[in-house]
Amino acid sequence: MKRYFIAGNWKMHKTVAEAVSLASELRDRLSDCREKLMIAPPFTALQAVSEVTRGSNILLGAQNMGPEESGAHTGEVSVLMLKDLGVSVVILGHSERRHTYGEHDALINAKVRLALKHGLEVILCVGETLEEREHGALETVIRRQLVEGLRGVEPSALLGVTVAYEPVWAIGTGKTATPEDADTVHAFCRKVVAELYGQEAALRMPIQYGGSVKPENVAALMAKQNIDGALVGGASLKAESFVPIAKFR
Ligand code: PEP
Repeated sequence: MKRYFIAGNWKMHKTVAEAVSLASELRDRLSDCREKLMIAPPFTALQAVSEVTRGSNILLGAQNMGPEESGAHTGEVSVLMLKDLGVSVVILGHSERRHTYGEHDALINAKVRLALKHGLEVILCVGETLEEREHGALETVIRRQLVEGLRGVEPSALLGVTVAYEPVWAIGTGKTATPEDADTVHAFCRKVVAELYGQEAALRMPIQYGGSVKPENVAALMAKQNIDGALVGGASLKAESFVPIAKFR
């Protein structure tokens, strides 16, 4: 039976005390959940949340990391620091990093390769803006983000990669891609991965959907053949909404 990968991205929310409180509630209420689970608190709460999730079925994720192991990089957090805190998954290429902070494909690719080199799992986010979609550039954009994001990633390292399809127009807007629409784009992502790594690797690749996932729409999205999980923003900030998403079946 398919095991879905349900991940929560807390973005720039929660003090340490608030993060510990939410993580503790999730740990207790999701202890019987069979899906693969991850929460990504802000950097400042990673250590405290790590103590809560240690030994549980919830993986600790980071929302970003620097492209170097160490050095004079003011404001960056290194892969070694994340590993030191018990982080096992890192979200890279999130649309807010791409569009608000100008992260380009080459930078994201450097981070992807560095994270994989150090044994972190990577959630590589891809997605088109509304303008790109309306101009018929959806496939060009998704293909470029996948090809460039995975450049130089060895086939053996691909097992550590999950792709998250997050249409930018659906993130934090309340607008969700229809399950059919999302499934079509996921199938396209799989086709691109197959071109790069072969059919078997493409079929194995987990592809999450992200963009206003809520308790009300999660089951319909997860029912689609090419949707293997969810990357959840707003609805991951409260146990009342994240628990039913993780326990959608
Ligand atoms: C996200 O930030 O990855 C996301 C999908 O946000 P939201 O669920 O709030 O749309």
